[in-house]
Amino acid sequence: MLPSKVDLCVVGAGTAGAALSYFAASQGLRVLCLDRRALGGAGARWVNGVSRSDFETVGLDLPKGDELRGEDTAFHLTIGRGPQRLTLRDHGVLEVDMRHFVRRLQTLAKEAGAVLVEHVTVEAVDGHMVRTAEGEVEATVIADASGLRGAGVLASRPVRRDDLCAAAQSVFAVADPAGARAFLDQHGVAEDETLCFSGVAGGYSILNVRVAHGEVGLLTGSIPADGHSSGSRLIEAFVAEQPWVGERLFGGARTIPLGPPQPVLARGHRARIGDAAGQVFAAHGSGIGPGMQAAKLLADTLAQGGTPQDYATQWMRTHGGVFAAYDCFRRFSQRRTLEDLRTLFRTGLIDEPGAAAALGQRLPEPDAALLARVPAGLWRAGPGIARDLAATASRMIAAMATYRVYPRSGALQPGWSRLAARLDR
Ligand SMILES: Cc1cc2nc3c(=O)[nH]c(=O)nc-3n(C[C@H](O)[C@H](O)[C@H](O)COP(=O)(O)OP(=O)(O)OC[C@H]3O[C@@H](n4cnc5c(N)ncnc54)[C@H](O)[C@@H]3O)c2cc1C
Repeated sequence: MLPSKVDLCVVGAGTAGAALSYFAASQGLRVLCLDRRALGGAGARWVNGVSRSDFETVGLDLPKGDELRGEDTAFHLTIGRGPQRLTLRDHGVLEVDMRHFVRRLQTLAKEAGAVLVEHVTVEAVDGHMVRTAEGEVEATVIADASGLRGAGVLASRPVRRDDLCAAAQSVFAVADPAGARAFLDQHGVAEDETLCFSGVAGGYSILNVRVAHGEVGLLTGSIPADGHSSGSRLIEAFVAEQPWVGERLFGGARTIPLGPPQPVLARGHRARIGDAAGQVFAAHGSGIGPGMQAAKLLADTLAQGGTPQDYATQWMRTHGGVFAAYDCFRRFSQRRTLEDLRTLFRTGLIDEPGAAAALGQRLPEPDAALLARVPAGLWRAGPGIARDLAATASRMIAAMATYRVYPRSGALQPGWSRLAARLDR
């Protein structure tokens, strides 16, 4: 039986929806959260890299026990299968078993008084009424946290096929420890460290390998619309070539929406967060931290008597520019060949401070060393890459400026959306 009336109805009990339900219920709102799947199957079901600061910013305890599979492990980024490489340490990224983390968020939400109901699909939203096969609910505010496809709570700008990243992550047993050691030795990597082969299937693609505690985690992502193998295929191919990889233990595959944030995050009493809002950090397809931060902002705004539009304006003005700017850079990287990536590395245009900033979801500091290095790097990279990078940099600057003036008024949004769409290509 669904409650007949609530303050907030959340569609989706993945990271974003469960976090929103928790933050809102713990501030006294009557919250109903619906998921079409079993609660134990909602949201991400694999291992994700999430910055420690994402937990700290929203006031959640850091993962520990089964939830935490690694922290601050050295991250070796290689171009293709090498030999060029840079290594990031103390980057603050935690390896989180999302099955346990999503359950923690759902449990916190229930303990705070939210009602979470599984196996209920939201079929339509009509005014303040949320319609499902199990009945309808009247909600003062309706929040869409239903992931990539959205639940029709707000009209969406369609996501282009070449903005879709086919990602997969699976954990396998190590069947032959000596074989695993030989692989790590061959690449100069220790157990517990992450080896990231970039550009293995197009400029925007990775294959991450991390061997730890008798298991190996494989994470892949690529853009199939550009003619490349999907993340799942990349994992299959790696497993086929490495006989030391044993039985698959768990994991999953899904499509991550890249592209800039959806231009409309709220309208009237409706809002969206997480993948449904395009709040994904496009440089590496990360949506967990952004979804949690949007959830906290929306919950705080509503609890303090604000409107969904207040949340939308604040999120867009504070975070939208960085997300849209990095999406411009993502498109630049997507246009690159493996040879281009090698050139960028050789000329210092891919370097440790830049990679660390991208991992930390912030723009690099334009210090004197960077400003001195870039012109020389562009000169050495040649006119094709230099022209594209210069155009990308100017779009990134324009994105920062455009999102800073995201309109408060819904009436001005169509004009702003047209302006923002021009950053897109
Ligand atoms: C393989 C892979 C690896 C990734 N790695 C990382 C990483 O390392 N770091 C990172 O930050 N991000 C990573 N991501 C992205 C991250 O997993 C997503 O951004 C995040 O899970 C999105 O969370 P969400 O709550 O917005 O949506 P989802 O996790 O998609 O949850 C949406 C929920 O809504 C439910 N739902 C949908 N429609 C309805 C409906 N009509 N009615 C009721 N319920 C509905 C669904 O059942 C689902 O449970 C990765 C993604 C993949 C696929």
